[in-house]
Amino acid sequence: MADHSAIFRLEGISKSYGNVVALHDVSLSVAGNEYISLLGPSGSGKSTLLRVIAGFEAPDRGRVYFEGRDIAAMSAHERDIGFVFQNFALFPHLTVFDNVAFGLVNGKAPPAAAEVEKRVKEVIALVGLAGMEGRGVHQISGGQKQRVALARTLVMRPKLVLLDEPLGALDANLRHRMRNELRAIREKLGVTFLHVTGSETEALAMGDRVVVLDRGRIAQFARPDEVYSAPASPNVAHFLNRYNIFEGTLRGRNFEGPFGNLAVSHVTRSDRTAYAVRYDRMRVEPETGHADGPGLPATYVASEYLGSSVMYFFETDKGQVVEVEHHLSLGEPRNYEPKARYMLRWKPEDAIAYGQG
Ligand code: ADP
Ligand code: MG
Repeated sequence: MADHSAIFRLEGISKSYGNVVALHDVSLSVAGNEYISLLGPSGSGKSTLLRVIAGFEAPDRGRVYFEGRDIAAMSAHERDIGFVFQNFALFPHLTVFDNVAFGLVNGKAPPAAAEVEKRVKEVIALVGLAGMEGRGVHQISGGQKQRVALARTLVMRPKLVLLDEPLGALDANLRHRMRNELRAIREKLGVTFLHVTGSETEALAMGDRVVVLDRGRIAQFARPDEVYSAPASPNVAHFLNRYNIFEGTLRGRNFEGPFGNLAVSHVTRSDRTAYAVRYDRMRVEPETGHADGPGLPATYVASEYLGSSVMYFFETDKGQVVEVEHHLSLGEPRNYEPKARYMLRWKPEDAIAYGQG
């Protein structure tokens, strides 16, 4: 169906390399001026999807529409789409200015020199590098190289910017700063960003909406808060790194897992049967405490201090590690006895059951 408000739309994109299915029947529609995070583990097809949109790779099947037009026949440089590579891919022998100017000067209709100068300086200032135009790219830091790579893309005034793990090479502080700057640039220029990341924190923090890729398929496309609180499949819950996932069997409205047989109020349809409970929705009680809701006996192993919360690691009798997150705003850190047994509990309504229910 035609969606004319979409800046780009993918319809049934599939792509294989030999017998490796990189993308399977991917359909996606993105409105203008959205910031989209594309999250998935390594090998899930994120880079392949970007390359197909950019035109570096032809899909085996499916269509790519850009502003309502099928762009299959357009080469990468005819598409009004910018691409920022993970490794920056700058010209090492050129200055910051010349790296940024390169696409303009070598394009089909290069603007006059004065116009090039104006646009390059504007965009260099936009990414916070004013005054560094004359430096060689070997004379600037990793974070500054990332800004040059971004400036070089933005100077072409693309309507859509594809970013392939753009912050992966930066240290944590810089990554944080660049996140804010990307957001500011997006507000200022009104461009649409499609930002690939393997980091669930980055995907949730940056995206107006998040696409989760699982083995070449879209597992979920929703707002960050929806993905976080209602992951569409056990795999999505697993990538988020916020849920304990238990295997088991589902019979009607009963899930049989390592904690026994539990009634579930709602089943999220999925081809994998599992039971998920968020780390911060689990409680720890003495093993001998009276039964109050479902419980899973487990041995305390270790803890990890995270600043605003503490993560406690337990091990079940079957050897599964279960994580319990305790927000320090809710009370002091706990002192559990190493190797002692406890009972892990949660409210049934806080669990998500997956299966063919
Ligand atoms: P991601 O970016 O999510 O890590 P990719 O899109 O790079 O994933 O890769 C998806 C799958 O396709 C992987 O199994 C990868 O090994 C395979 N693949 C990607 N590019 C090629 C290629 N040029 N030749 C062969 N296999 C490839
Ligand atoms: Mg990749």
